[in-house]
Amino acid sequence: RVGVGRGPFGVEWRDSCPSTNSELVRRAAELPDFAVLATDDQTAGRGRLDRVWSAPPGASLAISVFIRLDAAPADPQGLGWLPLLAGVAMTRAVRELGAECAGLKWPNDVLVRGRKISGVLTELTAHGVVIGSGLNTRMTEEQLPVPTATSLAIEGIVDVETDALLADRVLAAYLGALRDLVAQWREAPTGAALRPIVVPVLDTLGAAVRVDQPGLAPLRGVAEGLDDDGRLLVRSGEGSSPVVAVSAGDVTHLRYE
Ligand code: ATP
Repeated sequence: RVGVGRGPFGVEWRDSCPSTNSELVRRAAELPDFAVLATDDQTAGRGRLDRVWSAPPGASLAISVFIRLDAAPADPQGLGWLPLLAGVAMTRAVRELGAECAGLKWPNDVLVRGRKISGVLTELTAHGVVIGSGLNTRMTEEQLPVPTATSLAIEGIVDVETDALLADRVLAAYLGALRDLVAQWREAPTGAALRPIVVPVLDTLGAAVRVDQPGLAPLRGVAEGLDDDGRLLVRSGEGSSPVVAVSAGDVTHLRYE
């Protein structure tokens, strides 16, 4: 079991925690860069837009990472790439664990065979960004919070009976990938540098999508790219702006059609 301060990343492990993101947001002023808090019993997990991330104890890993902003790029728009890069890191980790068909649904859900195995919630504080990821590990079909979810166990990637080191393996794979990607982001938080990293795992590109945004009619079209801030470019072919750039923060739902 991962212990407090042990391992290459100094992960702080809790046997139980209401919300790893809330805790890091509360402690942000005093946290070092890349502080990590993790648990496999998150009792009040949150998703985007006041949604709930739920899982029975031991069935899902919650991992939150703090990225200090004084080391961040001057261009605050580069921040739009961080949630995407967290999704890329989790996609790489899930592939490394054995689900080679895992892919990213913009902005940051990781899907396996069309079902969600991981979600990401990124929160901005005055001191930096907290990136929270939930990954369903040992969850069984009977335990799924929504029918569209899946887990490493359901995908047959882990033998839940024997894999005592699963949490450590996930943490090593995900944090290793995220550390590399954040370093690349710090070096060049631009579309030219980051698009080639995100696009190869982004299954959304080329798909017909419906994007719901508050106060606007649903946008229907084909997702065809990412702009310089990581916004999704959707070609609707309608009106005076046939291609619309949508921000993750404005989207309530993105569905494949
Ligand atoms: P959606 O997944 O509905 O497109 P979203 O990307 O905004 O929305 P998140 O913030 O990533 O969602 O996660 C919250 C949503 O994920 C919940 O509304 C619920 O539908 C779903 N969910 C909750 N718990 C889990 C879980 N353990 N595994 C997979 N999906 C979950």
